[in-house]
Amino acid sequence: MKRDKTKYVIIAGGVTSSLGKGIIAASLGKLLQARGLKVTVIKLDPYINVDPGTLNPYEHGEVYVTYDGSETDLDLGHYERFLNIRTSAKNNMTTGKIYRTVIERERRGEYLGKTVQVIPHITDEIKNRIRSLENEGYDVVIVEIGGTVGDIESLPYIEAVRQLGWELGRENMVTILLTLIPYLTAAGELKTKPTQHSVKFLMQSGVQPDILVCRTERPLSRKLKEKIALFTNVNIDSVVESIDVNSIYEVPMKMLNEGLDSVVIKRLGLENRVSSKPDLTSWKLFLERMEKPVDEVRIALVGKYVQLKDAYKSIYESLIHGSVANGLKLKLDWVDSEKLTDENIVERLGGLHGILIAPGFGSRGIEGKLSAIRYAREKKIPLLGICFGMQMAAIEFARNVLGYKEAHSTELNPSTPYPVIDLLPEQLEKQYMGGTMRLGAKIIIISGSGRLLEAYGGKRKITERHRHRYFFNEKFREEFEKAGMRIVAVDEEVGLTEAMELKDHPWFVTVQFHPEYQSTVDRPHPLFIAFIKNAYKCKQKKLAHGQKK
Ligand code: GLN
Repeated sequence: MKRDKTKYVIIAGGVTSSLGKGIIAASLGKLLQARGLKVTVIKLDPYINVDPGTLNPYEHGEVYVTYDGSETDLDLGHYERFLNIRTSAKNNMTTGKIYRTVIERERRGEYLGKTVQVIPHITDEIKNRIRSLENEGYDVVIVEIGGTVGDIESLPYIEAVRQLGWELGRENMVTILLTLIPYLTAAGELKTKPTQHSVKFLMQSGVQPDILVCRTERPLSRKLKEKIALFTNVNIDSVVESIDVNSIYEVPMKMLNEGLDSVVIKRLGLENRVSSKPDLTSWKLFLERMEKPVDEVRIALVGKYVQLKDAYKSIYESLIHGSVANGLKLKLDWVDSEKLTDENIVERLGGLHGILIAPGFGSRGIEGKLSAIRYAREKKIPLLGICFGMQMAAIEFARNVLGYKEAHSTELNPSTPYPVIDLLPEQLEKQYMGGTMRLGAKIIIISGSGRLLEAYGGKRKITERHRHRYFFNEKFREEFEKAGMRIVAVDEEVGLTEAMELKDHPWFVTVQFHPEYQSTVDRPHPLFIAFIKNAYKCKQKKLAHGQKK
């Protein structure tokens, strides 16, 4: 059977970064999917790191781990959460990856004596990677180019896309430029000049944008749209307003109202492949629930990167999904673990209903995390510990319940006499930092009849994603269990501890895996649903006991 051709939507950004290209890409993807098309999204990152795995979260936000174990850009998280799809290594390329492939090929002599150059060798590699999903039956592949047009780093990508458009033909590729229309308070006006310049810049590289998505704080008048259209060779119905909204989840509806999906479908000649109306039933249901919560719940996210919210992107979104599923509004306190001490803990965490201990690396801020864990354990506040959060909970338990004051992780103190958290044996031989952790999805078996099993609705075999080098040391298992910290899940293949929970506590669950990578709008993660549900129970109990907050 002849398959329909895969069509491409390129999304580039103009004027500034941080305009939300990832959200626009995910929103457009959602709308096209809701029309019945099979869609995926690829992110092109112009930096030279091979992947963001070695980057400080302050540089680049969270590292998103795919099912197949690639460490990728956080925009892939948006794609998965919006589209309810699984992405893979193929959905994220970086300049580092491209050059590495080309240089390795050169070393193998595969260029047969040719001079290896940006054009055509680097651009060919970019095009091949963009087209690598073509045989997977996608109707549309959306390609988001990181950075801003005009960046030196982006040039090979823009050139590759220009060539791609030429090769594929006009009816098979559409280019969207996301740009900013700033409002100048002093002049009382929206300004189009930066957008005109960005379009010119793109045109200098031979790329004419077909659609402009204009980020703005205020509505764009018809007149203004006409002006933008005239100066940029873009049809007026392809000048799309993207006004600021309260939640990223409202963006697809905004784009629907602006007709972005229709313009793309028409331009790509996809009319005969789509239904006339998008099916957004479950999305709208989510929005309705989000807009009309019955009550609110206050959660603390304890971590060391709280200054940059993007560092915990997936956790934040998963908490939203979990709250909406419970009909609640999330009130999130970002608690800096470096500033948390036994002295200020009541003041910082006293009024909260649930505590989440974030993943992490290195010793900065661990004392604050340990204090928060102790507080949650003793005061019986629901706690969810993720990865490093589980490891910290094990250390806290060993120190304060088992009495091993020097208990530690060998990541933080290699000579501790009580290494409750130790290096995975396979990690001993690793030479490189990048891409060498225990990564990606593994099958996990849940035992016993505790909170974890309850959260997963009685399912004993689950699959969750990972990103770590250290693990719970089995030598301490018996002692932990005897004292009330139960090992409730292990890796099916190698038997490593995947989850622990406290026996005499309303809800104290810590996991070695990362549930946040698998929560989507359509499938909120069960662990976050259970965590929020129990945090809310804690709120009600507090209220019943006459505590104000
Ligand atoms: N630093 C810890 C480890 O490598 C935890 C990692 C994490 O929280 N993702 O095992």
